[in-house]
Amino acid sequence: MEKTFLMVKPDGVQRGLVGEIVKRFEQKGFQLIGSKLTVITREQAEIHYAEHKGKDFFERLVNFITSGPVFAMVWHGDQVITLSRTMIGKTNSLEAAPGTIRGDYAVHTNLNLIHGSDSPESAEREINNFFQPSEIHMYTKNIQEWI
Ligand code: ADP
Ligand code: MG
Repeated sequence: MEKTFLMVKPDGVQRGLVGEIVKRFEQKGFQLIGSKLTVITREQAEIHYAEHKGKDFFERLVNFITSGPVFAMVWHGDQVITLSRTMIGKTNSLEAAPGTIRGDYAVHTNLNLIHGSDSPESAEREINNFFQPSEIHMYTKNIQEWI
């Protein structure tokens, strides 16, 4: 079992896609173990996108990601890092396949709705950048008890 960091970017929040995006990961069978609506700081954004520092789109990317609320999440499940990236789709919206989140809803690469960690190391770093340990809740599901 793994944890990953997923984040609905400001464009996804503005377009009212938080519910749709959460629904897809819940229905896949993953478990939401942490979430918050938050406006991220420049410092947080620069840590989050450190690998892109120096690229021509870096400044635009940091401006965009700090421009309004994001919906930050921690998800838990078997192969959740790789499978959530598959569900998100390719970075370039022109290449993102229909059926993926970006393929179904994104038009532009710089407005591509959602972030997902790309490795176990990134996931750990990104979760720690956005969440305190006390904000993450591992719990056992017992559906029969609640119906
Ligand atoms: P991903 O989000 O799929 O992991 P990257 O890590 O390569 O993609 O890039 C991070 C984010 O930077 C992308 O999701 C996108 O918002 C933005 N980005 C990447 N490449 C470009 C580009 N060429 N022009 C504008 N924005 C870009
Ligand atoms: Mg990336």
